[in-house]
Amino acid sequence: MPISSQKSLVMKFGGTSVANLDRIRNVALHVKREVEAGYHVAVVVSAMSGKTNELVAWCKDASALHDMREYDAVVASGEQVTSGLLAIALQNIGIAARSWQGWQIPILTDDAHGSARILGIDGSGLSDSFKTKGEVAVIAGFQGIHKESGRLTTLGRGGSDTSAVAIAAAIGAERCDIYTDVDGVYTTDPRIVPKAKRLEKVAFEEMLEMASMGAKVLQVRSVELAMTHRVPTYVRSSFDDPADPKPGTLICGEEDIVEQQIITGIAYSKDEAQITLRRVADKPGIAAAIFVPLADANINVDMIIQVVSDDTTTTDITFTVPTADFERAKTILEGLRGTIGYATLQGANDVVKVSAIGVGMRSHAGVAARAFKALADKGINIRAITTSEIKFSVLIDSAYTELAVRTLHSLYGLDQA
Ligand code: ADP
Ligand code: ASP
Ligand code: MG
Repeated sequence: MPISSQKSLVMKFGGTSVANLDRIRNVALHVKREVEAGYHVAVVVSAMSGKTNELVAWCKDASALHDMREYDAVVASGEQVTSGLLAIALQNIGIAARSWQGWQIPILTDDAHGSARILGIDGSGLSDSFKTKGEVAVIAGFQGIHKESGRLTTLGRGGSDTSAVAIAAAIGAERCDIYTDVDGVYTTDPRIVPKAKRLEKVAFEEMLEMASMGAKVLQVRSVELAMTHRVPTYVRSSFDDPADPKPGTLICGEEDIVEQQIITGIAYSKDEAQITLRRVADKPGIAAAIFVPLADANINVDMIIQVVSDDTTTTDITFTVPTADFERAKTILEGLRGTIGYATLQGANDVVKVSAIGVGMRSHAGVAARAFKALADKGINIRAITTSEIKFSVLIDSAYTELAVRTLHSLYGLDQA
């Protein structure tokens, strides 16, 4: 078969899959299998597990308020090591391979250092390398370059998933295989619910909600890209026998899923903090007085509930912000106390958002109501609720996380027999 007509494939390996040299040698065997099956292969690697956390901690230790351009210079280094090591391991078993840093491809991003977005990838260099040299491209995930400043950037935690899907789209790969430490996407995090079931297929829309609501098996942005570019993406295990791996879970269009459940999965996120403003004047413009300054400070407000108080001239407003922005949001609102005019500000960090996701919710009524009853029966108090077309979320005390996730998981018939 002439090389140029070969199909291409992207394989991504996460931190636990490249945790040490033995694991990297194991990855090389997975890659070898696909090369021998006739694919042009681009591999995307993460840093060794724990490495990025260590690098982030070093930056914080060096200075609590550090220059994010230098943060990127530091944290991108983990992937540089694993890409070089995997190229060596591949060469060692007779597979031609070359490592690529983000700037060498280049993977162009904006300049939001620490959480940059990919703007474009020129896949021609990679395709050339496949065709003329027949080399496996081993690409450092998580990193790119901001063209105008020439500075290196990183894509936010878990960003190697996004590097992989973006490269798959850029080179027109047949599919993108995301290898991790679980053998697919489950109905909920299998680490907290042992009865969770592996899903054969998940719709892009559902996976997007699951990832956004806390299922960190895929970075949210990677699912967005897979959905936009219609890249068939599999989540599968690098711990399978390289000679006989299982296909894992396919993330695909809704139309490709025959048997649809009402609820597909349960996710939870501890990345929420609650703020309540008591006795806010109940008059036009107050919501704007609270939420516009938060938006201006780039703080994402998620759940919002407003309660009319007994005296009807004041109201209580509760909302959530990302945990990382909790202190900043409180400081901003305390500074605006005179303008907004509230009696007290209460905050809680020990809360969790539990969400149920499923495209079947579009056509079934009363799905969320059943959850409220089931949680109440377990004595779990709901602090806030939000719903959208294919999901609902409840905010509860974090002490009840596991109980709530398990309760909803059983309620919607997701437990393994
Ligand atoms: P990697 O380092 O390979 O990128 P991650 O730790 O980022 O791996 O993602 C894999 C982890 O995601 C699993 O170990 C699992 O605990 C967690 N996870 C959370 N929700 C789910 C889910 N619904 N299905 C599968 N894994 C999940
Ligand atoms: N190494 C980076 C992180 O830990 C990127 C990734 O693994 O996807 O966030
Ligand atoms: Mg990950």
